[in-house]
Amino acid sequence: MTSGNKPPLIWLNVVLFSVSFLLAIIAAPWYGFANGYGFEHWIWLLVLFSFSNLSITAGYHRLWSHKAYEANSVVRVIFALGGALALQNSILHWSSDHRVHHRHVDNNDKDPYSAKRGFWFSHIGWMLRNYNNDSYSDYGNCRDLQKDKVVVWQHKYYVPLAVGLNIAVPLLLGILYQDIIGMFLIVGVVRLVLTHHTTFFINSLAHIWGSQPYTDKNTARDNGILAILTFGEGYHNFHHIFENDYRNGIRWWQYDPTKWLISLLSKVGLASKLRRAPQIKIEKAHAAMNLQRIQKRLVGMPNAEALNAKVIAEFEMLVESINAYYALKKQMLDSKKEDLVKKYEHSLLKIRYDQLSEKLVQQRKSWKLVVAQYA
Ligand SMILES: [Zn+2]
Ligand SMILES: [Zn+2]
Repeated sequence: MTSGNKPPLIWLNVVLFSVSFLLAIIAAPWYGFANGYGFEHWIWLLVLFSFSNLSITAGYHRLWSHKAYEANSVVRVIFALGGALALQNSILHWSSDHRVHHRHVDNNDKDPYSAKRGFWFSHIGWMLRNYNNDSYSDYGNCRDLQKDKVVVWQHKYYVPLAVGLNIAVPLLLGILYQDIIGMFLIVGVVRLVLTHHTTFFINSLAHIWGSQPYTDKNTARDNGILAILTFGEGYHNFHHIFENDYRNGIRWWQYDPTKWLISLLSKVGLASKLRRAPQIKIEKAHAAMNLQRIQKRLVGMPNAEALNAKVIAEFEMLVESINAYYALKKQMLDSKKEDLVKKYEHSLLKIRYDQLSEKLVQQRKSWKLVVAQYA
């Protein structure tokens, strides 16, 4: 028996995950065929699926695990409730695991859901057995969170909150719409299973499937399809290199509703201190990955050496242009703060800034052509 060497099963989790999954794929459709579901079932599924997922992404993940911004206590209580509804353990426990994941990503002995142990393990297997990572059992990597009253309160009352909300919410809706079983199946069970597995995809699929535009030092991937399922968390390659950025999808066309929510909260004064990785670092990391990709392609080409030299020269010009542009940009921002800087000095800086900005635009275009040609 191979299971002899494996740690003991955590029966509560095994039963919870398998029973909810079976109810969602068998009982929910079966009940639907027999009795039908109304518009209200789907609307409330969407509302509560979004609420529990966003509480995990904007709350558990970006606010608490990564401190990517600060939030008003009302917002924190709402996320704490949504997280309990999502049934993914307390903020403290979740964040502790997640910080270990970032610190020791892909390390099979330390990363609690290391993707290198395969899809099943990183998706759900790690929660089914007592793999017992002692290093985080006292939440020593979350001392800061233990000062947050909302976190401490939610941790203390996690079980009654989680069980209570998962029963009370579908039950109230069931009474309201006179379909207790239907609401229990759709808003209770189907919503929970969807919330679970879309979140779990970040640990499994987002470390297997997708591109690596910013780093290949770990298995994390950017994946637009996963971003749609996970409220923007699919841009996981960016996230693993710039983990304290409140954004995961940084381009305007990338689907990241968690980022939009945080930005909206800050606009209405409910969130503050939104952190962004320095643009210069992001741009350089992206260019360096493209360079690496091109160089791999060039290997074995007849004129590889000459092409390589050409590409490196182009890359170096780009980096030089990036450095000059961002340095002057900073100088301009600093000079704005100083009253002593005479007006004409500032206008001289402005002229130089416009030149460098134009030069960088050209340099980016020229690099894009190189990338399009060889990568
Ligand atoms: Zn990850
Ligand atoms: Zn993270």
